[in-house]
Amino acid sequence: MRKCVKCQNKAVVYLPQHRLSLCKEHYMEWYARRVEATIREFRMFSKKDRVLVAVSGGKDSLALWHVLHRLGYRADGLYINLGIDEYSERSKLLCDKFAKDRDLVLHVVELKREVASIPEIKQVEKRPACSFCGQLKRYYMNKYARLLGYHVIATGHNLDDESATLLSNVLSWNMEYLSRQFPVLEEREGFVRKVKPLCKFTEKENALYAFLAGIEYVEEECPFAEGASSIEHKMILNQVEEKSPGTKLRFYMDFLRRMHPLLSSEEVSLVPCRVCGEPTTAEVCSVCRLRERLSPKPLSSSASS
Ligand code: SF4
Ligand code: ZN
Ligand code: ZN
Repeated sequence: MRKCVKCQNKAVVYLPQHRLSLCKEHYMEWYARRVEATIREFRMFSKKDRVLVAVSGGKDSLALWHVLHRLGYRADGLYINLGIDEYSERSKLLCDKFAKDRDLVLHVVELKREVASIPEIKQVEKRPACSFCGQLKRYYMNKYARLLGYHVIATGHNLDDESATLLSNVLSWNMEYLSRQFPVLEEREGFVRKVKPLCKFTEKENALYAFLAGIEYVEEECPFAEGASSIEHKMILNQVEEKSPGTKLRFYMDFLRRMHPLLSSEEVSLVPCRVCGEPTTAEVCSVCRLRERLSPKPLSSSASS
């Protein structure tokens, strides 16, 4: 039986990449301290800032909201209802429940009212659902964070997501994406600052925190996630990680510390979209173009608390 390195009680987890065995209490403490240290290391935000946590109902984003609240940050939630049948219904229900149980503020944006649901858009668009879904989520997250007066948007991206994205960007040597891959994207011309406080935590570490904290989260994958190339990249990295624990974290952190500072980031100029006024690099933003293709509904302000 492994013992907790802090108190010698029975350990609930062994983290091979950190060579740490911890009991429930000390795992929760280790996790919260490491989140706090990541926020400080990358100067993400302070206790004065109003933080909007983008929650999907999954383990990562709800663990993030929970730990930020525990650490005393001013963190509210934003849920974008993508209208993906039972998957969205269940995730919305769990986000609502999470907020109600803890007396927290949750804003909800209904994609169906704004543009159309993801399955409806899929009938018109040839692209993979994740491509336009990601675009729409970024658009509405930013729009409502700004309209509701938040200083920063926090997302639950974890180490598995970040290292898989890094691998994919390296395999294609996408220098533009590589230069933008950082846990903080500063605010600029209509864009609210975006941060990833869980970028050093694996999916498993977040799942364990959520489980030990008694958080109910959606365990099913989104039905559109199947076949996404990020899943393959995650599998490859998991195989390497199993043989050599700590590889994922080293791959990602060494990129941030040693490689990222060498990459020049040419900032593209932004202009307000001619139709909706949101920041874009083209005359009309991609969401308005999508809306046009779908024979649009007028923009409505449907964020509600
Ligand atoms: Fe959207 Fe793709 Fe994520 Fe499903 S898996 S919620 S379609 S980005
Ligand atoms: Zn302990
Ligand atoms: Zn627009």
